[in-house]
Amino acid sequence: MARRKIIAGNWKMNMTPSEAVELVNTLKPLVANEEVDVVFCVPAIDIVPVVEAVKGSNIQVGAENMYFEEKGAYTGEISPNMLVDAGVKYVILGHSERREYFGETNEDINKKMHKAFEHGLVPIMCCGETLEQREQGVTMDFIRQQVKVGFQGITAEQAKEAVIAYEPIWAIGTGKTATTEQAQEVCKAIRACIAEVYDEATAEAIRIQYGGSVNAATAPDLFAQADIDGGLVGGAALKPDFGKIVNYK
Ligand code: PGA
Repeated sequence: MARRKIIAGNWKMNMTPSEAVELVNTLKPLVANEEVDVVFCVPAIDIVPVVEAVKGSNIQVGAENMYFEEKGAYTGEISPNMLVDAGVKYVILGHSERREYFGETNEDINKKMHKAFEHGLVPIMCCGETLEQREQGVTMDFIRQQVKVGFQGITAEQAKEAVIAYEPIWAIGTGKTATTEQAQEVCKAIRACIAEVYDEATAEAIRIQYGGSVNAATAPDLFAQADIDGGLVGGAALKPDFGKIVNYK
């Protein structure tokens, strides 16, 4: 069975609550494509107004991060339950910016993966290599480790529902998209890694996105690849161009 494409915006630390509502209202008619899953992953403070603003549309709301504890003395953190109660369906876990600036480890991300599933949230687990790793030829060793630790203890049934975002760090926010061949090659290898950890059925079901400077010009070729099931889009998700990306065909 063909996998349904999932095209998600990652707003990062952009848009105040009022700007967020305005952006949703601008994008709503432009992303009205029922053939793909459309997700807006927004800053925590924008979640409540954005959930309200997307009502009646095909847009689903995601968070950009969450903590792996249920509640308590964790000043500044957001729990899975808070996200669910606010109407969130997806959560980005282990984005390279969180790994780099906030010291998140594969083990932290694994704990968050478990919590996400426990609460019925769909994780979008990010992985990807640095330019140095690519040049050293260790891209897949590095990514396999991220995927294997990230999915440790996650059941095949859960993994089938998960989303993996392959985002080469050198392509994020740089305007330097991986070539279609590079992106397909790694997404295919990630799927093979899932087949190895689980089985063919799980590998066939899991959705793998490409992310890193995706724009309206590069999306059609990228999303046409056999192992690329959509994209995680940063900069271009804040512009009307996101409508073209969602309607890439
Ligand atoms: P970009 O960001 O599209 O701006 O490169 C993608 C991401 O970091 O998710």
